[in-house]
Amino acid sequence: MAEPDVLARLREMQRSDVPVQGGRTLAYVYDSGLTEVDRIGRAAVAAYAGSNGLDPTAFPSLLTMENDLVGFACRLLEAPPSAVGTVTSGGTESVLLAVQGARDSRPDIERPRMILPTTAHAAFHKAAHYFGVEPVLVPVGADFRADPEAMARAIDADTVLVVASAPSYAHGVVDPVTPIAAAALASGVRCHVDACIGGWILPYAARLGRPVHPWTFAVEGVTSISVDLHKYAYAPKGTSLLLHRTPELRRPQFFASAAWPGYTMLNPTMQSTKSGGPLAGAWAVVQTIGDEGYVELTRRVLEGVDRLLAGLEEIPALRVVARPDSTLIALASNGSCDIFTITDAMTSAGWYVQPQLSYDGQPPTIHLSLSAATTDHLDEFLVALAAAVEAAVTAGPISIDPDIVAFVQGLDAATLSDADFDGLLAAIGMAGDGGVGLPESMAEINALLDLAAPALREALLTAFLDRLTRPKRL
Ligand SMILES: *Cc1c(COP(=O)(O)O)cnc(C)c1O
Repeated sequence: MAEPDVLARLREMQRSDVPVQGGRTLAYVYDSGLTEVDRIGRAAVAAYAGSNGLDPTAFPSLLTMENDLVGFACRLLEAPPSAVGTVTSGGTESVLLAVQGARDSRPDIERPRMILPTTAHAAFHKAAHYFGVEPVLVPVGADFRADPEAMARAIDADTVLVVASAPSYAHGVVDPVTPIAAAALASGVRCHVDACIGGWILPYAARLGRPVHPWTFAVEGVTSISVDLHKYAYAPKGTSLLLHRTPELRRPQFFASAAWPGYTMLNPTMQSTKSGGPLAGAWAVVQTIGDEGYVELTRRVLEGVDRLLAGLEEIPALRVVARPDSTLIALASNGSCDIFTITDAMTSAGWYVQPQLSYDGQPPTIHLSLSAATTDHLDEFLVALAAAVEAAVTAGPISIDPDIVAFVQGLDAATLSDADFDGLLAAIGMAGDGGVGLPESMAEINALLDLAAPALREALLTAFLDRLTRPKRL
Protein backbone atom coordinates (compact mmCIF):
# COMPACT_ATOMS: atom_id res chain seq x y z
CA MET A 1 0.00 0.00 0.00
CA ALA A 2 1.21 3.51 -0.77
CA GLU A 3 1.50 6.00 2.08
CA PRO A 4 -1.73 7.97 1.60
CA ASP A 5 -3.65 4.71 1.39
CA VAL A 6 -2.09 3.29 4.55
CA LEU A 7 -2.84 6.38 6.58
CA ALA A 8 -6.33 6.67 5.11
CA ARG A 9 -6.96 3.05 6.02
CA LEU A 10 -5.77 3.68 9.59
CA ARG A 11 -8.10 6.63 9.95
CA GLU A 12 -10.92 4.57 8.52
CA MET A 13 -10.30 1.73 10.99
CA GLN A 14 -10.04 4.19 13.86
CA ARG A 15 -13.60 5.33 13.23
CA SER A 16 -14.81 2.14 14.91
CA ASP A 17 -13.03 3.09 18.16
CA VAL A 18 -14.31 5.35 20.90
CA PRO A 19 -13.06 8.90 20.24
CA VAL A 20 -9.98 9.93 22.23
CA GLN A 21 -10.69 13.63 21.81
CA GLY A 22 -13.86 15.65 22.23
CA GLY A 23 -14.78 14.74 25.80
CA ARG A 24 -17.44 12.15 24.96
CA THR A 25 -15.46 9.18 26.28
CA LEU A 26 -15.63 9.00 30.09
CA ALA A 27 -13.21 6.12 30.72
CA TYR A 28 -9.93 4.94 29.19
CA VAL A 29 -9.03 8.36 27.82
CA TYR A 30 -8.35 11.68 29.51
CA ASP A 31 -8.72 14.74 27.37
CA SER A 32 -7.44 18.17 28.33
CA GLY A 33 -9.41 19.68 25.45
CA LEU A 34 -6.29 21.69 24.58
CA THR A 35 -5.74 20.97 20.89
CA GLU A 36 -2.34 22.62 20.84
CA VAL A 37 -1.12 20.53 23.79
CA ASP A 38 -2.23 17.34 22.05
CA ARG A 39 -0.48 18.36 18.86
CA ILE A 40 2.80 19.02 20.67
CA GLY A 41 2.55 15.76 22.66
CA ARG A 42 1.98 13.73 19.52
CA ALA A 43 4.82 15.46 17.67
CA ALA A 44 7.13 14.59 20.59
CA VAL A 45 5.99 10.94 20.52
CA ALA A 46 6.70 10.78 16.81
CA ALA A 47 10.10 12.47 17.17
CA TYR A 48 11.20 9.89 19.75
CA ALA A 49 9.38 6.81 18.45
CA GLY A 50 12.64 5.21 17.38
CA SER A 51 14.75 6.18 20.41
CA ASN A 52 15.63 3.48 22.90
CA GLY A 53 15.32 4.07 26.63
CA LEU A 54 17.41 0.95 27.25
CA ASP A 55 20.66 2.88 27.55
CA PRO A 56 20.77 6.38 29.09
CA THR A 57 24.40 6.82 28.03
CA ALA A 58 23.44 6.45 24.37
CA PHE A 59 20.21 8.47 24.75
CA PRO A 60 21.04 11.05 27.45
CA SER A 61 18.10 13.23 26.40
CA LEU A 62 15.74 10.54 27.67
CA LEU A 63 17.50 10.55 31.05
CA THR A 64 17.11 14.33 31.23
CA MET A 65 13.39 14.09 30.48
CA GLU A 66 12.89 11.34 33.06
CA ASN A 67 14.65 13.30 35.79
CA ASP A 68 12.65 16.41 34.89
CA LEU A 69 9.34 14.56 35.16
CA VAL A 70 10.27 12.88 38.45
CA GLY A 71 11.41 16.24 39.79
CA PHE A 72 8.09 17.82 38.81
CA ALA A 73 6.23 15.00 40.54
CA CYS A 74 8.42 15.25 43.68
CA ARG A 75 7.14 18.76 44.22
CA LEU A 76 3.52 17.75 43.62
CA LEU A 77 3.76 14.78 45.97
CA GLU A 78 5.60 16.66 48.74
CA ALA A 79 8.51 14.28 48.48
CA PRO A 80 11.53 14.71 50.78
CA PRO A 81 14.92 15.58 49.23
CA SER A 82 15.88 11.89 49.38
CA ALA A 83 13.09 10.83 47.00
CA VAL A 84 13.75 9.15 43.66
CA GLY A 85 11.53 7.88 40.88
CA THR A 86 11.19 6.08 37.59
CA VAL A 87 9.04 6.60 34.51
CA THR A 88 7.16 3.39 33.67
CA SER A 89 4.85 2.40 30.83
CA GLY A 90 1.64 2.76 32.84
CA GLY A 91 -0.09 2.38 36.17
CA THR A 92 0.00 -1.39 36.08
CA GLU A 93 3.76 -1.43 35.58
CA SER A 94 4.21 1.05 38.45
CA VAL A 95 2.10 -1.16 40.71
CA LEU A 96 3.88 -4.34 39.58
CA LEU A 97 7.25 -2.78 40.38
CA ALA A 98 6.08 -1.52 43.77
CA VAL A 99 5.01 -5.04 44.69
CA GLN A 100 8.12 -6.69 43.22
CA GLY A 101 10.37 -4.24 45.08
CA ALA A 102 8.54 -4.88 48.35
CA ARG A 103 8.83 -8.63 47.90
CA ASP A 104 12.51 -8.52 47.02
CA SER A 105 13.33 -6.23 49.93
CA ARG A 106 12.46 -9.16 52.18
CA PRO A 107 14.18 -12.27 50.79
CA ASP A 108 13.98 -13.72 54.31
CA ILE A 109 10.20 -14.11 54.00
CA GLU A 110 9.24 -17.35 52.33
CA ARG A 111 5.54 -16.59 51.79
CA PRO A 112 5.23 -12.81 51.42
CA ARG A 113 1.84 -11.16 51.82
CA MET A 114 0.41 -7.73 51.05
CA ILE A 115 -2.56 -6.06 52.71
CA LEU A 116 -5.07 -4.63 50.22
CA PRO A 117 -8.38 -2.91 50.77
CA THR A 118 -10.97 -4.76 48.65
CA THR A 119 -11.19 -1.61 46.50
CA ALA A 120 -7.50 -1.73 45.46
CA HIS A 121 -6.95 -1.80 41.68
CA ALA A 122 -6.83 -5.15 39.90
CA ALA A 123 -3.19 -4.39 39.04
CA PHE A 124 -2.33 -5.56 42.58
CA HIS A 125 -3.95 -8.93 41.84
CA LYS A 126 -1.87 -9.13 38.71
CA ALA A 127 1.23 -8.38 40.78
CA ALA A 128 0.20 -11.06 43.28
CA HIS A 129 -0.13 -13.51 40.40
CA TYR A 130 3.18 -12.59 38.77
CA PHE A 131 5.31 -12.34 41.89
CA GLY A 132 3.77 -14.88 44.24
CA VAL A 133 2.78 -12.34 46.88
CA GLU A 134 -0.40 -13.40 48.64
CA PRO A 135 -3.07 -10.65 48.60
CA VAL A 136 -4.83 -10.27 51.94
CA LEU A 137 -8.11 -8.51 51.16
CA VAL A 138 -9.55 -6.32 53.89
CA PRO A 139 -13.19 -5.16 53.54
CA VAL A 140 -13.74 -1.41 53.24
CA GLY A 141 -16.17 0.61 55.34
CA ALA A 142 -19.71 1.65 54.40
CA ASP A 143 -18.16 4.78 52.84
CA PHE A 144 -16.01 2.58 50.55
CA ARG A 145 -12.82 3.82 52.22
CA ALA A 146 -10.25 1.35 53.52
CA ASP A 147 -10.66 0.40 57.17
CA PRO A 148 -7.34 1.32 58.84
CA GLU A 149 -7.91 -0.67 62.06
CA ALA A 150 -8.78 -3.83 60.14
CA MET A 151 -5.77 -3.31 57.88
CA ALA A 152 -3.49 -2.83 60.89
CA ARG A 153 -4.80 -6.05 62.41
CA ALA A 154 -4.10 -7.91 59.17
CA ILE A 155 -0.37 -7.04 59.21
CA ASP A 156 1.74 -9.98 60.33
CA ALA A 157 5.38 -11.14 60.23
CA ASP A 158 5.06 -12.13 56.55
CA THR A 159 3.63 -8.80 55.38
CA VAL A 160 5.86 -6.95 52.90
CA LEU A 161 3.45 -4.23 51.75
CA VAL A 162 0.36 -2.31 52.79
CA VAL A 163 -1.64 -0.50 50.09
CA ALA A 164 -3.97 2.51 50.01
CA SER A 165 -5.63 4.28 47.06
CA ALA A 166 -5.82 8.03 46.41
CA PRO A 167 -8.46 7.67 45.15
CA SER A 168 -9.89 4.22 44.37
CA TYR A 169 -10.88 3.73 40.73
CA ALA A 170 -14.29 2.13 41.30
CA HIS A 171 -15.70 4.58 43.87
CA GLY A 172 -13.45 7.63 43.58
CA VAL A 173 -12.73 8.03 47.30
CA VAL A 174 -9.36 8.56 49.00
CA ASP A 175 -8.44 6.01 51.67
CA PRO A 176 -7.39 7.19 55.15
CA VAL A 177 -3.70 7.07 54.31
CA THR A 178 -2.44 8.60 57.60
CA PRO A 179 -3.46 5.73 59.93
CA ILE A 180 -2.75 3.07 57.30
CA ALA A 181 0.81 4.35 56.73
CA ALA A 182 1.30 4.72 60.50
CA ALA A 183 0.36 1.07 61.03
CA ALA A 184 2.76 0.00 58.28
CA LEU A 185 5.56 2.12 59.74
CA ALA A 186 4.98 0.73 63.22
CA SER A 187 5.47 -2.77 61.81
CA GLY A 188 8.44 -1.82 59.64
CA VAL A 189 6.46 -2.59 56.47
CA ARG A 190 6.38 -0.64 53.23
CA CYS A 191 3.25 1.40 52.38
CA HIS A 192 2.37 2.11 48.75
CA VAL A 193 -0.18 4.78 47.84
CA ASP A 194 -1.77 4.08 44.47
CA ALA A 195 -2.48 7.56 43.15
CA CYS A 196 -2.37 6.41 39.53
CA ILE A 197 -5.53 8.26 38.68
CA GLY A 198 -5.69 10.99 41.32
CA GLY A 199 -2.05 11.88 41.70
CA TRP A 200 -2.11 14.72 39.21
CA ILE A 201 -5.49 16.08 40.38
CA LEU A 202 -5.45 16.01 44.19
CA PRO A 203 -2.39 18.29 44.66
CA TYR A 204 -3.99 20.94 42.45
CA ALA A 205 -7.34 20.44 44.19
CA ALA A 206 -5.55 21.22 47.48
CA ARG A 207 -3.98 24.34 45.93
CA LEU A 208 -7.46 25.42 44.87
CA GLY A 209 -8.50 25.26 48.51
CA ARG A 210 -10.57 22.11 48.26
CA PRO A 211 -10.46 19.67 51.18
CA VAL A 212 -8.11 16.76 50.41
CA HIS A 213 -7.35 13.91 52.81
CA PRO A 214 -3.57 13.69 53.38
CA TRP A 215 -2.04 11.05 51.10
CA THR A 216 1.36 12.27 49.80
CA PHE A 217 4.91 11.72 51.10
CA ALA A 218 4.01 14.36 53.71
CA VAL A 219 2.28 11.42 55.45
CA GLU A 220 4.78 9.58 57.61
CA GLY A 221 5.17 5.94 56.65
CA VAL A 222 4.29 6.32 52.94
CA THR A 223 7.24 4.66 51.17
CA SER A 224 6.14 4.76 47.51
CA ILE A 225 3.51 6.40 45.31
CA SER A 226 2.36 5.62 41.76
CA VAL A 227 0.96 8.39 39.53
CA ASP A 228 -0.01 8.00 35.90
CA LEU A 229 0.99 10.69 33.45
CA HIS A 230 -1.30 9.23 30.78
CA LYS A 231 -4.36 9.94 32.94
CA TYR A 232 -4.73 13.38 34.50
CA ALA A 233 -1.40 14.80 33.36
CA TYR A 234 -3.18 14.48 29.98
CA ALA A 235 -0.08 12.92 28.35
CA PRO A 236 -0.26 10.50 25.41
CA LYS A 237 -0.64 6.85 26.43
CA GLY A 238 2.33 4.97 27.83
CA THR A 239 3.66 6.74 30.91
CA SER A 240 3.31 6.54 34.67
CA LEU A 241 5.63 7.39 37.56
CA LEU A 242 6.74 5.29 40.50
CA LEU A 243 8.32 7.34 43.28
CA HIS A 244 10.15 6.01 46.34
CA ARG A 245 10.96 7.93 49.52
CA THR A 246 14.65 6.91 49.34
CA PRO A 247 17.07 5.31 46.84
CA GLU A 248 17.39 2.31 49.22
CA LEU A 249 13.66 1.60 48.89
CA ARG A 250 13.96 1.65 45.09
CA ARG A 251 17.08 -0.53 44.86
CA PRO A 252 15.40 -3.97 44.52
CA GLN A 253 13.48 -2.64 41.51
CA PHE A 254 16.69 -2.50 39.45
CA PHE A 255 17.62 -5.56 37.46
CA ALA A 256 21.12 -6.15 36.16
CA SER A 257 22.50 -9.13 34.29
CA ALA A 258 26.04 -9.58 33.02
CA ALA A 259 25.53 -13.33 32.80
CA TRP A 260 25.75 -13.54 29.03
CA PRO A 261 28.20 -12.46 26.32
CA GLY A 262 26.19 -9.43 25.11
CA TYR A 263 25.70 -5.98 26.67
CA THR A 264 25.12 -5.92 30.40
CA MET A 265 21.39 -5.63 30.80
CA LEU A 266 20.48 -2.94 33.29
CA ASN A 267 16.81 -2.07 33.68
CA PRO A 268 14.84 -0.04 36.21
CA THR A 269 11.52 -1.21 34.68
CA MET A 270 10.00 -4.36 33.21
CA GLN A 271 10.73 -3.44 29.61
CA SER A 272 14.29 -3.39 28.39
CA THR A 273 14.24 -1.82 24.94
CA LYS A 274 11.56 0.81 25.33
CA SER A 275 10.40 3.54 23.02
CA GLY A 276 11.43 7.06 23.94
CA GLY A 277 8.13 8.22 22.42
CA PRO A 278 5.84 8.09 25.45
CA LEU A 279 8.45 9.68 27.73
CA ALA A 280 9.08 12.50 25.26
CA GLY A 281 5.32 12.92 24.78
CA ALA A 282 4.73 13.19 28.53
CA TRP A 283 7.66 15.56 28.98
CA ALA A 284 6.39 17.80 26.20
CA VAL A 285 2.83 17.86 27.57
CA VAL A 286 3.91 18.58 31.15
CA GLN A 287 6.25 21.36 29.97
CA THR A 288 3.51 22.87 27.82
CA ILE A 289 0.69 22.75 30.35
CA GLY A 290 2.88 23.57 33.35
CA ASP A 291 1.81 24.13 36.93
CA GLU A 292 -0.50 27.00 36.13
CA GLY A 293 -2.12 25.08 33.31
CA TYR A 294 -2.80 22.13 35.61
CA VAL A 295 -4.31 24.40 38.24
CA GLU A 296 -6.69 25.74 35.60
CA LEU A 297 -7.52 22.29 34.16
CA THR A 298 -8.16 20.96 37.67
CA ARG A 299 -10.36 23.93 38.53
CA ARG A 300 -12.40 23.28 35.39
CA VAL A 301 -12.78 19.57 35.92
CA LEU A 302 -13.66 19.85 39.62
CA GLU A 303 -16.22 22.55 38.89
CA GLY A 304 -17.49 20.10 36.27
CA VAL A 305 -17.84 17.42 38.95
CA ASP A 306 -19.85 19.86 41.08
CA ARG A 307 -22.14 20.71 38.15
CA LEU A 308 -22.49 17.05 37.25
CA LEU A 309 -23.47 16.15 40.82
CA ALA A 310 -26.05 18.95 40.84
CA GLY A 311 -27.43 17.81 37.48
CA LEU A 312 -27.65 14.21 38.64
CA GLU A 313 -30.09 15.28 41.34
CA GLU A 314 -32.56 15.78 38.48
CA ILE A 315 -32.18 12.11 37.54
CA PRO A 316 -33.64 10.41 40.65
CA ALA A 317 -33.33 6.91 39.14
CA LEU A 318 -29.55 7.20 39.58
CA ARG A 319 -27.75 7.44 42.90
CA VAL A 320 -24.17 8.69 43.42
CA VAL A 321 -22.59 5.80 45.32
CA ALA A 322 -19.98 7.83 47.20
CA ARG A 323 -19.35 11.56 47.29
CA PRO A 324 -16.33 11.83 44.96
CA ASP A 325 -12.99 13.07 46.31
CA SER A 326 -11.75 13.89 42.82
CA THR A 327 -12.98 13.34 39.26
CA LEU A 328 -14.41 9.81 39.42
CA ILE A 329 -18.10 9.14 39.94
CA ALA A 330 -19.92 5.83 40.42
CA LEU A 331 -23.68 5.75 39.78
CA ALA A 332 -26.06 3.00 40.87
CA SER A 333 -29.68 2.47 39.85
CA ASN A 334 -32.56 2.89 42.31
CA GLY A 335 -33.99 -0.34 40.89
CA SER A 336 -36.26 1.22 38.27
CA CYS A 337 -33.79 0.73 35.42
CA ASP A 338 -30.94 -1.51 34.41
CA ILE A 339 -27.41 -0.11 34.52
CA PHE A 340 -26.30 -2.11 31.48
CA THR A 341 -29.21 -0.87 29.37
CA ILE A 342 -28.20 2.67 30.25
CA THR A 343 -24.54 2.17 29.30
CA ASP A 344 -25.58 0.71 25.93
CA ALA A 345 -28.02 3.56 25.32
CA MET A 346 -25.23 6.02 26.04
CA THR A 347 -22.98 4.23 23.55
CA SER A 348 -25.71 4.53 20.92
CA ALA A 349 -25.97 8.23 21.70
CA GLY A 350 -22.23 8.68 21.14
CA TRP A 351 -21.06 8.74 24.77
CA TYR A 352 -18.85 6.09 26.34
CA VAL A 353 -19.52 5.42 30.03
CA GLN A 354 -18.09 2.34 31.71
CA PRO A 355 -20.19 -0.41 33.31
CA GLN A 356 -18.85 -1.86 36.58
CA LEU A 357 -20.25 -5.27 37.56
CA SER A 358 -21.76 -6.00 40.96
CA TYR A 359 -19.14 -6.94 43.53
CA ASP A 360 -19.00 -7.89 47.16
CA GLY A 361 -22.72 -7.35 47.78
CA GLN A 362 -22.73 -4.02 45.93
CA PRO A 363 -24.89 -3.51 42.82
CA PRO A 364 -23.50 -2.75 39.36
CA THR A 365 -22.60 0.86 38.68
CA ILE A 366 -21.72 3.29 35.91
CA HIS A 367 -18.19 4.65 36.16
CA LEU A 368 -17.46 8.19 34.96
CA SER A 369 -13.92 9.59 34.73
CA LEU A 370 -14.54 13.24 34.03
CA SER A 371 -12.00 15.01 31.81
CA ALA A 372 -11.48 18.73 31.40
CA ALA A 373 -12.71 18.39 27.80
CA THR A 374 -16.08 17.01 28.95
CA THR A 375 -16.83 20.05 31.07
CA ASP A 376 -17.82 22.08 28.01
CA HIS A 377 -20.48 19.50 27.14
CA LEU A 378 -21.96 18.67 30.54
CA ASP A 379 -25.46 19.88 29.77
CA GLU A 380 -25.49 17.75 26.65
CA PHE A 381 -24.16 14.81 28.65
CA LEU A 382 -26.87 15.15 31.29
CA VAL A 383 -29.59 15.33 28.63
CA ALA A 384 -28.23 12.16 27.02
CA LEU A 385 -27.98 10.41 30.39
CA ALA A 386 -31.54 11.37 31.35
CA ALA A 387 -32.77 10.05 27.99
CA ALA A 388 -30.80 6.81 28.43
CA VAL A 389 -32.29 6.34 31.90
CA GLU A 390 -35.78 7.02 30.56
CA ALA A 391 -35.24 4.46 27.81
CA ALA A 392 -33.96 1.93 30.34
CA VAL A 393 -36.99 2.45 32.59
CA THR A 394 -39.27 1.88 29.60
CA ALA A 395 -37.32 -1.18 28.44
CA GLY A 396 -37.65 -2.79 31.87
CA PRO A 397 -35.28 -5.38 33.31
CA ILE A 398 -32.96 -7.22 30.93
CA SER A 399 -34.48 -10.63 30.45
CA ILE A 400 -32.19 -13.54 29.84
CA ASP A 401 -33.47 -16.94 28.76
CA PRO A 402 -33.81 -18.99 32.00
CA ASP A 403 -32.06 -21.91 30.27
CA ILE A 404 -29.02 -19.71 29.63
CA VAL A 405 -29.08 -18.47 33.21
CA ALA A 406 -29.15 -22.06 34.43
CA PHE A 407 -26.36 -22.98 32.03
CA VAL A 408 -24.11 -20.16 33.28
CA GLN A 409 -24.90 -20.88 36.89
CA GLY A 410 -23.95 -24.51 36.29
CA LEU A 411 -20.50 -23.58 34.96
CA ASP A 412 -17.45 -23.99 37.14
CA ALA A 413 -14.63 -21.47 36.62
CA ALA A 414 -11.99 -24.01 37.60
CA THR A 415 -13.02 -26.53 34.98
CA LEU A 416 -14.54 -24.36 32.21
CA SER A 417 -13.78 -26.22 28.98
CA ASP A 418 -13.71 -25.06 25.39
CA ALA A 419 -16.85 -27.14 24.80
CA ASP A 420 -18.63 -25.39 27.68
CA PHE A 421 -17.71 -22.01 26.30
CA ASP A 422 -18.62 -22.87 22.72
CA GLY A 423 -21.95 -24.13 24.04
CA LEU A 424 -22.52 -20.83 25.77
CA LEU A 425 -21.59 -18.84 22.65
CA ALA A 426 -24.03 -20.89 20.61
CA ALA A 427 -26.78 -20.47 23.23
CA ILE A 428 -26.43 -16.67 23.23
CA GLY A 429 -26.18 -16.52 19.45
CA MET A 430 -22.57 -15.40 19.28
CA ALA A 431 -21.08 -18.37 17.50
CA GLY A 432 -20.72 -17.70 13.80
CA ASP A 433 -19.02 -19.34 10.84
CA GLY A 434 -16.45 -16.58 10.62
CA GLY A 435 -15.38 -17.05 14.23
CA VAL A 436 -16.26 -14.88 17.18
CA GLY A 437 -16.66 -11.15 16.69
CA LEU A 438 -17.43 -8.22 18.93
CA PRO A 439 -21.06 -8.17 20.07
CA GLU A 440 -23.45 -5.54 18.73
CA SER A 441 -24.86 -4.79 22.14
CA MET A 442 -23.28 -5.36 25.52
CA ALA A 443 -26.29 -5.18 27.86
CA GLU A 444 -27.22 -8.89 27.78
CA ILE A 445 -23.60 -9.95 28.01
CA ASN A 446 -22.96 -7.68 30.97
CA ALA A 447 -26.16 -8.92 32.63
CA LEU A 448 -25.01 -12.50 32.11
CA LEU A 449 -21.53 -11.80 33.47
CA ASP A 450 -23.12 -10.03 36.41
CA LEU A 451 -24.79 -13.31 37.37
CA ALA A 452 -21.45 -15.08 37.47
CA ALA A 453 -19.07 -15.08 40.43
CA PRO A 454 -15.78 -13.17 39.86
CA ALA A 455 -13.77 -16.31 39.09
CA LEU A 456 -16.28 -17.37 36.43
CA ARG A 457 -16.30 -13.85 34.93
CA GLU A 458 -12.55 -14.12 34.60
CA ALA A 459 -12.76 -17.53 32.96
CA LEU A 460 -15.52 -16.51 30.54
CA LEU A 461 -13.83 -13.30 29.47
CA THR A 462 -10.50 -15.08 29.09
CA ALA A 463 -12.13 -17.65 26.82
CA PHE A 464 -13.78 -14.81 24.88
CA LEU A 465 -10.50 -12.93 24.42
CA ASP A 466 -8.86 -16.13 23.28
CA ARG A 467 -11.53 -16.48 20.57
CA LEU A 468 -11.25 -12.81 19.53
CA THR A 469 -7.50 -12.85 19.13
CA ARG A 470 -7.02 -15.19 16.24
CA PRO A 471 -4.74 -14.34 13.33
CA LYS A 472 -6.16 -13.24 10.03
CA ARG A 473 -4.05 -14.88 7.34
CA LEU A 474 -3.85 -12.98 4.11
C1 LIG B 1 -5.64 3.18 35.98
C2 LIG B 1 -5.22 2.71 37.31
C3 LIG B 1 -4.24 1.73 37.48
C4 LIG B 1 -3.63 0.97 36.33
O1 LIG B 1 -3.11 1.81 35.37
P1 LIG B 1 -2.93 1.43 33.82
O2 LIG B 1 -2.27 2.66 33.33
O3 LIG B 1 -4.28 1.17 33.25
O4 LIG B 1 -2.04 0.24 33.74
C5 LIG B 1 -3.86 1.42 38.78
N1 LIG B 1 -4.46 2.01 39.83
C6 LIG B 1 -5.43 2.92 39.70
C7 LIG B 1 -6.05 3.53 40.93
C8 LIG B 1 -5.85 3.31 38.44
O5 LIG B 1 -6.84 4.20 38.30
